[in-house]
Amino acid sequence: MSLTLSGPTAHHGLAEHEVVLLLQTDPHRGLSDAEAAERLITFGPNTLPPPAGAGLFVRVLRQFHHPLIYVLLVAGAITAGIGEFIDSSVIFGVVAINAMVGFIQESKAESALASLRSMVQTDAKVIRGGHEHTVASDCLVPGDLVLLDAGDKVPADLRVLRATELRVNESALTGESAPVHKDEFVVPDAAPVADRHNMAYSGTLVAAGGGAGVVVTTGAETEVGQIHRLVGAADDLTTPLTADLARFSRILTVGILALAALTFGVGLLRHQGAVETFTAAIALAVGAIPEGLPAAVTITLAIGVARMAKRRAVIRRLPAVETLGSTTVICTDKTGTLTENQMTVQAIWTPTGHVEVTGTGYAPQGSFLDAGETPIEVDSDRAFRWSLLAGACCNDAALIEDGGRWDVVGDPTEGAMLAVAAKAGLDRDELTTALPRLDVIPFNSERQYMATLHRDAGDDHVILAKGAVERVLQLCDNQMSADGTAGPLDRSEVSRAAETLSSRGLRVLATAVRAASGPDDFGEQALPGSLTLTGLQAMLDPPRAVAASAVSACHTAGITVKMITGDHAATASSVATKVGLLDDEDRRPGAVLTGADLAELDSEDFGESVDGATVFARVSPEQKLRLVEALQARGHVVAMTGDGVNDAPALRQANIGVAMGLGGTEVAKDAADMVLTDDDFATIEAAVEEGRGVFDNLTKFITWTLPTNIGEGLVILAAIAFGTALPILPTQILWINMTTAVALGLMLAFEAKEAGIMARPPRDPRQPLLTRGLVMRILLVSTVMVASTWWLFEWELSRGASLAEARTVALNLFVVIEVFYLFSCRSMSCSAWRIGIFSNRWIILGVATQAVGQLAITYLPAMNTMFGTAPIDAPAWLRILAVAVATSVIVAVDKRLRRPRTTAR
Ligand code: ADP
Ligand code: MG
Repeated sequence: MSLTLSGPTAHHGLAEHEVVLLLQTDPHRGLSDAEAAERLITFGPNTLPPPAGAGLFVRVLRQFHHPLIYVLLVAGAITAGIGEFIDSSVIFGVVAINAMVGFIQESKAESALASLRSMVQTDAKVIRGGHEHTVASDCLVPGDLVLLDAGDKVPADLRVLRATELRVNESALTGESAPVHKDEFVVPDAAPVADRHNMAYSGTLVAAGGGAGVVVTTGAETEVGQIHRLVGAADDLTTPLTADLARFSRILTVGILALAALTFGVGLLRHQGAVETFTAAIALAVGAIPEGLPAAVTITLAIGVARMAKRRAVIRRLPAVETLGSTTVICTDKTGTLTENQMTVQAIWTPTGHVEVTGTGYAPQGSFLDAGETPIEVDSDRAFRWSLLAGACCNDAALIEDGGRWDVVGDPTEGAMLAVAAKAGLDRDELTTALPRLDVIPFNSERQYMATLHRDAGDDHVILAKGAVERVLQLCDNQMSADGTAGPLDRSEVSRAAETLSSRGLRVLATAVRAASGPDDFGEQALPGSLTLTGLQAMLDPPRAVAASAVSACHTAGITVKMITGDHAATASSVATKVGLLDDEDRRPGAVLTGADLAELDSEDFGESVDGATVFARVSPEQKLRLVEALQARGHVVAMTGDGVNDAPALRQANIGVAMGLGGTEVAKDAADMVLTDDDFATIEAAVEEGRGVFDNLTKFITWTLPTNIGEGLVILAAIAFGTALPILPTQILWINMTTAVALGLMLAFEAKEAGIMARPPRDPRQPLLTRGLVMRILLVSTVMVASTWWLFEWELSRGASLAEARTVALNLFVVIEVFYLFSCRSMSCSAWRIGIFSNRWIILGVATQAVGQLAITYLPAMNTMFGTAPIDAPAWLRILAVAVATSVIVAVDKRLRRPRTTAR
């Protein structure tokens, strides 16, 4: 039986049974696996078509949209008009090649960014054949029964069948940023999208609550697919830096064009030939305008993005690449980022006893030892048993065994509690049958506890709860003794026990229980002050192996690392000490602050206290936002991690919002600038390192490319000023600019990171790209280039060379100096020898290509005609080399003298 969905159906106007009938699915068991597979073939994958971006033609045409190109096109036309057909075809040829290169570069940069999208996969929870599965959202088909939870991205258009407090943020679709309420009730057919409260649309985000719905449309058929407004829109290639550079080169272009016009006017007044003056003016414009600059910067950024992706940091917004290098503070989560998120319960405390638990990982093997390390019978303590029961039943995780390896599906904290219960012989599946769950108050970082309502064997109701010790203590009014009876609650003793366990670095959760009179006797209002505390479970989450070295690398790099966690202060401090965030001896007062401390600070002290503290414990997501703002107000560039729904505002506010690819919600990923595919703190450090490298390479490229433009401009200006022949013709200048930018300059983007890149302080974002020293070097190199070219050109003429030969010598000298200078630019501080002449293969390849090009333009007759060059003899090459070497010595001496004193050797 095949399913046909004809025409647009108003699914929101249908009752549940009608939708289910229409889509031929089961509202509880979902589709069968076989049916889902079949439908996937019929309907295709649940992906959106690529953005309806500009077509090929428009994109090619866009390459010609540049003032310089207009100038060239006009120049080409005029040159053709006065009968210089060779020159005009060279100009048109160069323009065409330039457009092609630009097009290829732009496409490459775009595809580098686009390929990142597939690295962060969106998962969906579906029920198929009565069982819950997690599948890639691409595989969803109409009829699938999808489960939604806070933090999820709605994976397809759904007709909601069940909802508990479900609220969805539909801003991606409607622009409305306040979350809207969703339920299962029928909506009139005519209702507009924004009013269809029984539909959850693809690409929108679940802000709170949960529910289930049946997929009505997928892929291009969804609302977003139809209005062609891709979530995450077309990739934007502009960043603050490229925008700045584009502005800079626009101003420059106007200036140079004015100068060229002036040149033309002055030349005419002086009665120099109109053709020659025109040519000179064109040469000036062509030479001095750095037209390739913004494109080269984009390429360098894109290469940086690709490098970061290789190190498992996926950039979602290109400007982040620039900002990373300036990061001064990293605010990181503890659980899962600095630690493994592999929880194992190590100790359990009850009001009448304390046991240590053995065993590793999530395997249900281990025993319970008393203080004397002898195995004990745990059944004697009723509180102990109830604590294990609460841990196992008030729990949404599952343990699975795969080839002897036990792993957790769901929250590791809950996995640990399942494992310890299993060690005592409490089996999850048997418990589910014996104590079926009727209702739940789910865990979230604000609530800090979870509670469930169950029916027991005697048909009575029982409430089980677990959560942060302080929170559970608020819910309790007594504690359980060994025989199961309730006694008075000794809060201070419980707190002390929790403190002792926490200071071992263990995460401590309290458990509690109460009999309930019925389904109504449950809810956030019904619990406080009524439960019986049963015990404390303390679990170990070992720090990640590389966390300590990554933290120390950050410190060396002048970056402050702060830990922000929902965990207890003692647990947090212990972990912070282990990874080197806190010093063992020096526990400065104010190094550890809790959410409560933060709430008490008045606004004047807030910034300073926050700046001085290292560990923030029991912090709520709203406080994270305040933390970021306070740090930014003090001039910091802040990277902040987050994984939950409520972390989104802080992630957006941070200069670099970092989301977790494995454990994070879709909402957090959506708000982030960067996603860590391994959730590891060390990856942030790696990304910062790459970010610094990208910035270095940008600086190197600009330092290398500007002298060429300035030099070419000056050569022409000088020739006009002195009324002499042009040492280099406009077409020759076109040749230099075209070939060297691609064959030589671009190769700098592949330069390895400098030694000691993480041993210097972060870049001040207000500092200009080119420091004074670099500006001086650029001016020096330009001057040396002009002087030596000019001198050799005149010298060749004076010894009887033809104009074409002398120009060929000048042209080659220009390029050879650029090659030498390229090696000098490879490192900002070391000499080319120190980093190894051959250490960047791309550069060698580029230089070889350029050499072949120079031989061709010098010796191929066809190219001689086109570019006005002429073959030169071997001694001429020797003179070129000698002059080039002399100029590089000058540059090398300058570099040596200006070497920053702080540079690591
Ligand atoms: P973290 O920043 O370390 O991830 P969380 O916000 O996840 O902190 O957790 C804060 C506190 O809430 C924990 O210290 C723990 O006591 C409690 N907690 C964590 N997970 C759960 C859970 N699944 N159920 C109940 N309580 C939990
Ligand atoms: Mg957590």
